[in-house]
Amino acid sequence: MTQALPCDPIQRAAEMEAIVMQDKKRKYYRFRASRHYGGIVTADAVGCPFLCAYCWNYGRNESPGKFGEFCSADNVVEKLTSIARRKKIRLFRVSGAEPVLGTASFDHLLKVVKAGRFIIETNGLILGARPDMAERLGGLNVAVRISIKGWDGQSFERVSGAKREFFRYPLIALKTLIGAGVDAWPAVMGDLFGPEGTRRLAALMEEMGIRTRIETEYLERYPFVISNLRHRGWETADGISWQRRWF
Ligand code: SF4
Repeated sequence: MTQALPCDPIQRAAEMEAIVMQDKKRKYYRFRASRHYGGIVTADAVGCPFLCAYCWNYGRNESPGKFGEFCSADNVVEKLTSIARRKKIRLFRVSGAEPVLGTASFDHLLKVVKAGRFIIETNGLILGARPDMAERLGGLNVAVRISIKGWDGQSFERVSGAKREFFRYPLIALKTLIGAGVDAWPAVMGDLFGPEGTRRLAALMEEMGIRTRIETEYLERYPFVISNLRHRGWETADGISWQRRWF
C-alpha cells in the first residue's frame, strides 16, 4: 500500500478498500457509546486514504491489515442497536476511519446507516470524486459532517498527507450533498485553521456557492499527535504555529 507522502489519495483509497473490505464485510475493532453529539453509538473502523498528522487513529490507519475483524453490515447494525437500547441513545456513527473508500465500502455503509439516525463523518474525498454516491445519500436518515483539512492546497497537503491537487474534492462533496437535500456541513480544526484559515475557507465556500455553517473542533493533544504535527512542520508551544519546513 502507498505509504510515501504526499500520496495520491484516490489510489490509496482503492488499495485501502482491498485491505479492509472482504465479501461485503468491513474491518471494525470496537463498538461503544461515546459522549460526542450528546451521546452517540459508535462503530470504530480502520482504513482511510488520508494519513492526517492529528489522526487519533494514526497507527491503525497506517497498518489497517493488523487491526480489526471483518463484520457484515447486518452484524454491525445488530451491535449498534443493541448498545443503543442499553444506553437509551438514538444516534449512530462510524468513527476512526473513512467510511467511504469506494463502491464496496459505500454499499456496506448504505446498509449500516439503516441502524437509525446516522451522522456520517467523512473526509469527503471519494464523495467528491463520485458525486453519484453523494447524491444517493439524499432522502436517507443521515447527516454528513465533512472534515476539511486545509484552507488551500498547501495546508491541506500538510495536514492530510494527500497531494494538494485533491484539496477541493471534499468541498465538491459538500456542495453535491447540500444540493441533494442532505444536512451537510464542514468541520475544521480550530488550533490549525485559526481565524484566518477559517475566513479563507468561508470565502472559498462562498465563491463555490456553498452556504452552510462551519463547525470548529479542537485537537486531542496526545503525545504522538504533537510529534506528528511537529514532523510535518506544525510547531507547538503555547499554541500551534505554522512552520514552513515540510514537503
Ligand atoms: S481523515 Fe480522519 S480517519 Fe482519515 S487519517 Fe484523517 S483524521 Fe484519521
